[in-house]
Amino acid sequence: MLKNNLALIRERINKAVSRRNTAPENITLVAVTKTVPPRVINEALELGINNFGENRVQDALPKIECLPAEINWHFIGHLQTNKVRQVLPVFKLIHSLDSIKLAGAIQKEAEKKNMVANVLLQVNIGEEKSKYGFRWEEVQDALVELTQLNHIKVLGLMGIAPFVEDPEEVRPYFRRLYSLFKAINLPGVEMKYLSMGMSNDFEVALEEGANVIRVGTSLFGSRS
Ligand SMILES: *Cc1c(COP(=O)(O)O)cnc(C)c1O
Repeated sequence: MLKNNLALIRERINKAVSRRNTAPENITLVAVTKTVPPRVINEALELGINNFGENRVQDALPKIECLPAEINWHFIGHLQTNKVRQVLPVFKLIHSLDSIKLAGAIQKEAEKKNMVANVLLQVNIGEEKSKYGFRWEEVQDALVELTQLNHIKVLGLMGIAPFVEDPEEVRPYFRRLYSLFKAINLPGVEMKYLSMGMSNDFEVALEEGANVIRVGTSLFGSRS
């Protein structure tokens, strides 16, 4: 089943990127493994997936411990400052830098560990009260502040679209995030990754310029 799901997703990715003049090799598929047991993660690894995403520290750490060290782990959920210490050593990229306060905590911990943390700045693209992330108008100033933090490397932007039945409805949000991504020009900020698109809307996200998509249920089935 996993194998079939992956084949279908790859086909959908190929079709979506062909509409945009880019190659599927430029797209990073992050397989979102919240609630997925290590046995199934191992199967995905054998099928060639090497980027996995988790959104809760306490659920992720026990799984990460018993899986091969070569996996690239992505942190995609809201990160509490008191969990930063545990996240930094194991996650290669934090997609969800959503406040300056969190940035301060990451800077402090990364300095202690003598490392540089790779992050994406999360934008609350749908301006939803229930979602985390910087507001559109805050992004530029936040990025300038982040350039002062020498143990944080900003590598791009992340957005979560409002949940809607018809993914066409969220195309304008993705389009706006891409144009912001393209417009940012700051020394020390490398706009390399644009993380947007999930099971319901990844094709639209890819058409609008995403190069990282985060897919859970389309790959592993429903979580309920
Ligand atoms: C759960 C989750 C996903 C994957 O969602 P699906 O709809 O299952 O593909 C992507 N991004 C974030 C931030 C998530 O929490």
